[in-house]
Amino acid sequence: MSAPDDRPAAANFVRDLVIADNEQGTFGGRVQTRFPPEPNGYLHIGHAKAITVDFDLAAEFGGVCNLRFDDTNPDTEDASYVEAIVDDIGWLGYEVATPLYASDYFSQLADWAELLIQQGKAYVDEQDGETISKQRGGYGNPGTESPHRDRSIEENLDLFGRMRAGELDDGAAVLRAKIDMQHENMQMRDPVMYRIRAGHHHRTGDGWKIYPTYDWAHGQSDAIEGITHSLCTLEFDSHRPLYDWYLDQLAAAGVLPYAQPRQSEFARLELTHTVTSKRKLLQLISDGVVDGWDDPRMPTLRGLRRRGYPAESIREFCRFIGVSRTNSRNEIELLESFVRTRLNAVAQRRMAVLRPLEVVIDNWPSDDAGAPIVEQVELINNPENADDGTRTAPFSGRFWIEQDDFKAEPPPKYYRLTPGREVRLRGAFFVTCVGFDTDANGDVERVHVTYDPETRGGNAPDGRKVKSTMHWVSADHAVDVQVALYERLFSAEIPGEATGDVFDDLDPNSRELLEGCKAEPALGDAALGSVVQFERLGYFAHDLHDPLLFHRTVGLRDEWANIQKRKG
Ligand code: ATP
Ligand code: MG
Repeated sequence: MSAPDDRPAAANFVRDLVIADNEQGTFGGRVQTRFPPEPNGYLHIGHAKAITVDFDLAAEFGGVCNLRFDDTNPDTEDASYVEAIVDDIGWLGYEVATPLYASDYFSQLADWAELLIQQGKAYVDEQDGETISKQRGGYGNPGTESPHRDRSIEENLDLFGRMRAGELDDGAAVLRAKIDMQHENMQMRDPVMYRIRAGHHHRTGDGWKIYPTYDWAHGQSDAIEGITHSLCTLEFDSHRPLYDWYLDQLAAAGVLPYAQPRQSEFARLELTHTVTSKRKLLQLISDGVVDGWDDPRMPTLRGLRRRGYPAESIREFCRFIGVSRTNSRNEIELLESFVRTRLNAVAQRRMAVLRPLEVVIDNWPSDDAGAPIVEQVELINNPENADDGTRTAPFSGRFWIEQDDFKAEPPPKYYRLTPGREVRLRGAFFVTCVGFDTDANGDVERVHVTYDPETRGGNAPDGRKVKSTMHWVSADHAVDVQVALYERLFSAEIPGEATGDVFDDLDPNSRELLEGCKAEPALGDAALGSVVQFERLGYFAHDLHDPLLFHRTVGLRDEWANIQKRKG
């Protein structure tokens, strides 16, 4: 199997832009990017793409990527999200020197708004939001100018001053840029720059009564920080003329500290079977569909981390899919394939039995006191990495196997345990089934085998072969654990495609919690959060909090390869 890094680098048009800019000396060779989350929820896999694009680009060209909180809406934002976002970015593998905040620029932004007013390029409008929105018109449908559009500069300065001082009520007025109500781009029809909000801001407290809109805050914050390439997702494409208009006015006034930044848009990351809207993720939590932001079924970085996804594999996936301007949906199986490849290289092998069936060795020896002998067998920790060495596991007269690994009446091509059949127990012995006990319902309750003492370590000196190697856990030494198995949270490839409501596609059985699973003793002290391969079953992450709970990260089969084959 090839290492993840062997996969080819994908096209990245943003990178090409930077190279062209450097050749032309646009920013004097400087490359400075930013990742601008709004602290109103947790980061998800879509954000991971933006983070990878922003941070990798800066790093490649010797620049810096700022983490800037776009904290301009006091109603929905919270300091707890700020901390979680910083933590998640660190986990993903990127270093943030000092987080920056759009709210740190509130004074500068308000001063620059006053400058636009002084130049006759902004005005205060007391009409209500609904009226303003109606007057904006539509495509092919000209807008209507506000009756306040031509009030004097003095009056505007006075009114904005009173907005700023908190003398006007919530919603009583807005500040608008005076651009063009007939502009073919709706964003340019006198967009709102400031609103009055009574809310309490998580950093500025009650100090501000007016809050800048995204468009007014964003480009200007970029300019203050000396950002060169301001990268965002395609839905901001129509905002770019406005982004440029604001900066053009300030550049013409000679107040920008650095060269004027430029916005470029790239396609959002979308995954099959997944939703990445914070609002919908929040609804999954409030509806009780999942346990919280870090539920292992969530596409949040917290969820993926708890599920056992290595941060490297998320970065590798994001780099592999590349950066383009065409919206598309990637298969979640591709992401899983990166996870599996990485885990195959690093995850130690362990044995656990999820649905246990008892097996007794009828010819197992006892000591003088009549107690069964306990042997220590040696097991390889990771055949992919010799440095991981070996461990021992106890083996004695009773052990657990998967219920599936025994059949009283085997179907054709069934090579596992069945009456008369000899199989290998991984690292231990060959055993032959000599019978089984049933309960009152006729269900198999216990299997009887004999073992061949000559096959210790799992090979027969006479060279005879068996068709099956099975995992097992010694019954007298097993640790009881819980194991959570997961299916896709949304069964449809494109959630909501059929009915328009993504929640119609929820799989009600996306989690199966197995109790009383049997794990080899070495798993009792697995480090919280570590991921192991349960032999033959898949990769499982040790929960971050509960030492006796494991989450199935991903199965062993490479479904991505199958999808590729199907597609030809
Ligand atoms: P949501 O729509 O889920 O609320 P958002 O875009 O409003 O997400 P922000 O916190 O504003 O979330 O996003 C921070 C940055 O992450 C933005 O630059 C945004 O473009 C980018 N981003 C968000 N979702 C994705 C995605 N699915 N793919 C790529 N980038 C994304
Ligand atoms: Mg947003």
